[in-house]
Amino acid sequence: HTARFPFSKSISDFDFEFQPSVNEKRVKETLTCRFIKNGENRILLGPPGVGKTHLAISFGMEALVKGYTVKFITADEFVNECRKASAKETLHYFINRMSKPDILIVDELGYFPFDELTANVFFQIVSKRYERGAMILTSNKSYVEWGKVFGDDVLATAILDRLLHHSVTFNIKGQSFRMKEKKQAGIIP
Ligand code: ADP
Ligand code: MG
Repeated sequence: HTARFPFSKSISDFDFEFQPSVNEKRVKETLTCRFIKNGENRILLGPPGVGKTHLAISFGMEALVKGYTVKFITADEFVNECRKASAKETLHYFINRMSKPDILIVDELGYFPFDELTANVFFQIVSKRYERGAMILTSNKSYVEWGKVFGDDVLATAILDRLLHHSVTFNIKGQSFRMKEKKQAGIIP
């Protein structure tokens, strides 16, 4: 479908007992999709494998079921598409495409820092969506490290100021689910 999720995941597949730092009440509240109407954000932080993308997809799929429009993009794809659009002088079109859907999900912020152009475009999109369109972001970097993610502390502060005004942060601390599966299979001790 149009949202282009990398894989299909539902909240019914999520093991809350394995990841007790995930506030189940907040997850259930998010699944009501009220945050979309209010133009709020949901931000999932934590190390690899703790279920950030799984939860982001679950939220997005529930929103689709409820009739909202959803765009899913990884931070890497965001950078690539942004650069391509700039080269073709179609940045305004890219910014519109990222501003229109009811929810924009940007997955895996922070693995690679944004270049200056992409960071500025990201700021423009966050500003356009502010109090109008919901965003779901996932990152392996804590907020204090977002200056490095966007290559600019002042810009990162401006982005976070808007993002965090109406938002819930899921700070996931725990073990990687992937490692759990490997341990159970006897692949690693
Ligand atoms: P992250 O995005 O935080 O790196 P993912 O969401 O991609 O992690 O999770 C890695 C894999 O483990 C996925 O297949 C996901 O469905 C699964 N997974 C992670 N956490 C849980 C959990 N608590 N219950 C069930 N499956 C999980
Ligand atoms: Mg992920």
